[in-house]
Amino acid sequence: MPDHSDAPGFDTLAIRTQADISPAREHSVPLYLTSSFRFDDAEHARALFAEEVSGNIYSRYANPNTDEFVRKLCLLEGGEDGIATASGMSAVFTLLAARLSQGDHVVASRALFGSTHQLFTRVLPKWGISCDYVDASDTEAWAARITPRTRMFFVETPSNPGLELIDLAWLGALARQHGITLAVDNCFATPYLQQPLRLGAHVVVHSATKYIDGQGRVLGGAIVGDRDVLADCRFFARHTGPAMSAFNAWLLSKSLETLAVRMDRHCANALSIAQHFERHPAVSAVRYPFLPSHPQYELARRQMRQGGGIVALEVHGGLAAGRRFLDRVRLVSHSANLGDTRTIVTHPASTTHSKLTAAERGAVGITDGLIRVSAGLESLGDIVADLEQALAD
Ligand SMILES: *Cc1c(COP(=O)(O)O)cnc(C)c1O
Repeated sequence: MPDHSDAPGFDTLAIRTQADISPAREHSVPLYLTSSFRFDDAEHARALFAEEVSGNIYSRYANPNTDEFVRKLCLLEGGEDGIATASGMSAVFTLLAARLSQGDHVVASRALFGSTHQLFTRVLPKWGISCDYVDASDTEAWAARITPRTRMFFVETPSNPGLELIDLAWLGALARQHGITLAVDNCFATPYLQQPLRLGAHVVVHSATKYIDGQGRVLGGAIVGDRDVLADCRFFARHTGPAMSAFNAWLLSKSLETLAVRMDRHCANALSIAQHFERHPAVSAVRYPFLPSHPQYELARRQMRQGGGIVALEVHGGLAAGRRFLDRVRLVSHSANLGDTRTIVTHPASTTHSKLTAAERGAVGITDGLIRVSAGLESLGDIVADLEQALAD
């Protein structure tokens, strides 16, 4: 991790960045449930709309709670500017729609979140925007795919659910050399584990639904990064309306205060689960960035503070064994979410990635026996015992 020892620490920023926005001097930031805001006078209204002064107008544009959440996230990610959106996918779509035009081209890592993949293959082509996929670790392929119309690199690292990594410092340098915007979906790592903007990315998108909320309660998303990228995103969002609700922003801002302590435990539990099941006879392979057996272990150690909360287990026996495992878990949840206090197991081949063809799944390492484990915050012994009994003969 880069050393920013002259700046306040991550936890201090997450806890002490709080807008003093109310005359009532609440110690904890209050919730602003209001769709619009009053103007002082005609001149104030004019100046606000002319963007000569900053201030609240209408909650589709901004709200004190969304502002507070985003300001904090910008400090944690090292971004110049940011906006909050209603979900992770609305953040991804806002970024792509705001920055790409007819005829533009994107190079993306092959292993992408299922809905992001659908955007690139089924939605953006309607507007003449094309995308080429490359394998994350095939460094020659990135440069080879660049065309005169390539405007953006879009990547996830670690990827979902294969946990492949991309060297962000290297890709950021390539992007800059060609005037391409590097966008990173930082949902799996969170700014606590990895700060792409400090490594060379121009913009980061988040599904705040996952670790940022961390308690499985609300949907949310955010875009954070360079001022010029965010200016386009803000214009697009202001007029198309993917706004985050004030309530969700209030909740998510409070969640950021505990992000670091939660991530420490998620990572510790995930590493222990990975180490335990690497030796289990029912499991043919375990993938986790901080296991020395991970093919990009060195990069993981360089780029991430810890290995993250997700472990991929490959069970012997393919689809049938995977389904049997899911039907036998008792304590842990069988659900499609991740990044919750509760441990969750998911079978990507039949759920989150079922819209991909078998060949597309194969290309990103999603086999029929792959189980994604999102390590929760329960007592480690109880999580391991439940996974053990579900794998037993
Ligand atoms: C969940 C997720 C998204 C989409 O976020 P939503 O909040 O569900 O819209 C995008 N990227 C990744 C990596 C995710 O895990």
